[in-house]
Amino acid sequence: MTHFNNLEVAFSDKSNADLNRAHLLFKTISSPFLSKILTSIVKICLWLKLPITPIIKATVFKHFCGGTTIKNSQKVMAKLWESHIGTILDYSAEGKKSEEDFNHVMEETIRTILKSKNEKSIPFSVFKFTGLCSFSLLEKMSYNSVLTKKEEVEKGLFLSRIETICRTAAENKVPIFIDAEESWIQNAIDNITMEMMRKYNKEEACIYNTLQMYRNDRITYLNELVSDIKDNKYFVGLKLVRGAYHEQEIERAKQKNYPCPVHTIKENTDTDYNKALRICMENIDRISVCAGTHNEESSSLLMDLMQQHNIQKGDKRIFFSQLLGMSDHISYNIANSGFNVAKYVPYGPVKDVLPYLIRRAEENTSIAGQMGRELTNIIEEKKRRRNS
Ligand SMILES: Cc1cc2nc3c(=O)[nH]c(=O)nc-3n(C[C@H](O)[C@H](O)[C@H](O)COP(=O)(O)OP(=O)(O)OC[C@H]3O[C@@H](n4cnc5c(N)ncnc54)[C@H](O)[C@@H]3O)c2cc1C
Repeated sequence: MTHFNNLEVAFSDKSNADLNRAHLLFKTISSPFLSKILTSIVKICLWLKLPITPIIKATVFKHFCGGTTIKNSQKVMAKLWESHIGTILDYSAEGKKSEEDFNHVMEETIRTILKSKNEKSIPFSVFKFTGLCSFSLLEKMSYNSVLTKKEEVEKGLFLSRIETICRTAAENKVPIFIDAEESWIQNAIDNITMEMMRKYNKEEACIYNTLQMYRNDRITYLNELVSDIKDNKYFVGLKLVRGAYHEQEIERAKQKNYPCPVHTIKENTDTDYNKALRICMENIDRISVCAGTHNEESSSLLMDLMQQHNIQKGDKRIFFSQLLGMSDHISYNIANSGFNVAKYVPYGPVKDVLPYLIRRAEENTSIAGQMGRELTNIIEEKKRRRNS
């Protein structure tokens, strides 16, 4: 797509060594066979407690993550900012289960808010509800199931963590994204997030919910939201994504024999995603939006819609966002044209970030031998450099 063709811009801050490392990485993970073998080897090595952390850190972690702490992610943030790309610090420690872990995630999220408060290069913070309480509690809350006494206590602690994070974000005027997760815990996430939006988005959007447009009920949900804000009592912040749990959603619906909650034809997800962008733009006086996507057509559409609605490129109600290490041709070219762009920059201890890294590897594994777009772009840029 013409908006994103400029590979010189896309890889402007990458040295030849960076490109060679990325080439090797994407070539390896684009092979389904190698990718599967390597992820299995990594899992076994970790289980055997073999010292493989330095290898992961120098390869896949270096490409997709900022660092192990906020402090040592600083270099990556500064580099992005040189190309006018902001950072969204994403503490990516997953699979935590104890109250101590949940408190730690809350404290770390607060650290990202306070960091963001003082730095223009960090326009948002972000967190996941599953970092703050058990998955099973969220599931029970989503279905209004009766909770045990112990779960009632857990729920109280969980809600107070959410309140602390959202209040800190609002007091410091740092907008914060709440990530969307599996549909069977999403009702609880939506309900609590709505409560936080009504409470803290009185003057502008500070709390952002995430809509997964692969879900076949999200356009209806968005339209209901639009009706709800007609009385001008609060502002809405939305991150629009397609959705990361497609296979699990279909599998679970089949297993438990309920209607599939997600589209099964990709085109329908695309149509709903683009429809949602249009609805948000038509209601921009009340809705702030972040397009969290690596899709060229949707990114291009949002740029066109902004022009049609006479919205300035740097209007702070509209952001484009991609993941660190992916779709640089979109991020760097959009930022170079003057639009607001911020990358999710995951950070955390290597072993905790591993599930995130494995998902990135799986996402970039080639379908039926097709070469991935990331790999194609890297090869093209290497060729361009050789010939220039
Ligand atoms: C900044 C950012 C934040 C994100 N935050 C979240 C989040 O909070 N929650 C979350 O769930 N995900 C999140 N994601 C991931 C996102 O949902 C997508 O998985 C990912 O971005 C790929 O979708 P795409 O729009 O980039 O592009 P594309 O490559 O065009 O679309 C791929 C997506 O299309 C959908 N899809 C694939 N096949 C089919 C099919 N047969 N039928 C219907 N739909 C299909 C799936 O959602 C798949 O992920 C985020 C992504 C980014 C970049």
